[in-house]
Amino acid sequence: MTTVDARALDNSPLGILHRVFGYDAFRGQQSEIIEQVVGGGDALVLMPTGGGKSLCYQIPALVRPGTGVVISPLIALMQDQVDALSAVGVRAEFLNSTQNGAERMRVEAAFIAGELDVLYLAPERLRMDSTSALFDRARISLFAIDEAHCVSQWGHDFRPDYLQLSMLHERWPSVPRIALTATATEHTHQEIVRRLDLGGSAQFVSSFDRPNIQYRIEPKNQPLQQLLALIRGEHAGDAGIVYCLSRASVEKTAEFLVENGITALPYHAGLDASIRQRNQARFLREDGVVMVATIAFGMGIDKPDVRFVAHLDLPKSVEGYYQETGRAGRDGLPSTAWLAYGLQDVVQQRRMIDSSEGDRAHRMRLSQHLDAMLALCETLQCRRVQLLAYFGEKSAACSNCDTCLSPPEGWDGTVPAQKLLSTVVRLQRERNQKFGAQHIIDILLGKRNARVEQQGHDTIATFGIGGELSEQEWRGVVRQLLAQGLLGVHADGYGTLVITDASASVLDGSRRVQLRREPERAARGPKKSAVAATLPGEAVPLFEKLREWRAGIAREQSVPAYIIFGDATLRGIALTKPSTLAELSGISGVGDKKLELYGEKLLEVVAAA
Ligand code: ADP
Ligand code: ZN
Repeated sequence: MTTVDARALDNSPLGILHRVFGYDAFRGQQSEIIEQVVGGGDALVLMPTGGGKSLCYQIPALVRPGTGVVISPLIALMQDQVDALSAVGVRAEFLNSTQNGAERMRVEAAFIAGELDVLYLAPERLRMDSTSALFDRARISLFAIDEAHCVSQWGHDFRPDYLQLSMLHERWPSVPRIALTATATEHTHQEIVRRLDLGGSAQFVSSFDRPNIQYRIEPKNQPLQQLLALIRGEHAGDAGIVYCLSRASVEKTAEFLVENGITALPYHAGLDASIRQRNQARFLREDGVVMVATIAFGMGIDKPDVRFVAHLDLPKSVEGYYQETGRAGRDGLPSTAWLAYGLQDVVQQRRMIDSSEGDRAHRMRLSQHLDAMLALCETLQCRRVQLLAYFGEKSAACSNCDTCLSPPEGWDGTVPAQKLLSTVVRLQRERNQKFGAQHIIDILLGKRNARVEQQGHDTIATFGIGGELSEQEWRGVVRQLLAQGLLGVHADGYGTLVITDASASVLDGSRRVQLRREPERAARGPKKSAVAATLPGEAVPLFEKLREWRAGIAREQSVPAYIIFGDATLRGIALTKPSTLAELSGISGVGDKKLELYGEKLLEVVAAA
């Protein structure tokens, strides 16, 4: 018997990991979780995006007799999930409302006949009596409850159908359940346990760190040019998501990128559903598409090779920011989370909070969310340390965020702060006037422009006393005072500045003001995609050839490119240049089925390079 045959007989979890998925080793807690479910026990799994949750139920579904039933709210993605499993030779199907009667009957018959390893099911089907009847006639190896946070009424993704899930346990008590989510404040965690009756289950809580994501936040000067520099300099040809606050800025940004030769598509709730769907499909299926979107886009986007997430406007909370940036780098390869943030963001968000619906307590909560986000933007510490601390996790400086890589300087900004605040106070007290940041900075810099002269503001005592800082530096001072609550925005809706209760202590000198000075940004690297940048120069041409080859196959089969092979696998091939099938099979992501389908062809691509 050859060694390949011996491997084929190995039905242990590790054997299946090698043979079917082509991976060398389990990651994190995968092995313990799989062991628990294979043994018939329940499990609750809290793991960050990209942590590898899918294998935690897919492998037990392959080891245990019967079909693994996966409840998932992401109907639009079921086809891709089934395609990805079929591509490695796993027998998978789905049941949801997008199918016609004949298709459903075919799937149900296969399920009852025991011909399926995995069946994806939309939660609304649990309400139907026919579903219970179906479950009674089939052999079920496990229930997997994906996106389990959807059972939480406090969370933002609540699905009433998820409340039905407690029934699984009551009606089929001997079938193990595994609930999985990447959204896990303590509150949500406890609610999942309670509603799904998982008090007795094993709980697996992973660190929420995403070490491959580089967090960067920079001052917003010319946001579109900054974005272009990011894409051209570090992410040429990469897939990415750009988040904007408004539909108008989504349109404008997408147009700008297209004019500059980047494949960018818009996505927001104002677009026709068919256009939205088409753009999403292109983003998922084609290589290197940039999606410019409002936060309406992204929930459940399973694309593993999103190389950057850029925010052109300040997110409203750290939770939102973490969830959105978390869509980058699910495949574990280097990725960037980049945010440009400026004075106008703070003014605009404070204004939105003041004019928002809801009671005082609600506005207070919004305000606290914003303050935490601002503190992250203005920190002198490691961004990751601060992010993880927000989610209750302790960590050490990461060396993979902007504040670690080029530490900003702290400086004592008490005197400039006093100059600025006293200008605001004088206008308010002496003349009963309020102005926005630009005018106040003009006064400090002693600019005799039309408005200053017209208002007679060149006679104010602080006129021209701010020459020690540039206009841009003054904007930074205003932004940081706003962020620290030492300066406020008036509720008049014009973004005029006012002093706050806390300003007095700065003015009378009893409080020092610590500010942040932006470090010089290092010159941008060469124009390479993020993954290519991690390869030695001589391997890059082959990597690009492999990407081209993959794009061709994906188009032929009309499946996303990553279903053929992930970037990590192409990277492995480009690095090792295999010349035999045996060598090729040793590369992570090359399982038996894909070796058989593409092995010869791949060796040709490598040999021709
Ligand atoms: P999640 O659902 O937790 O976001 P996925 O299950 O989609 O994560 O896995 C993320 C990526 O990591 C996928 O491309 C998957 O194939 C890969 N992956 C998961 N487990 C392993 C492993 N043990 N070795 C190598 N790659 C893995
Ligand atoms: Zn850091």
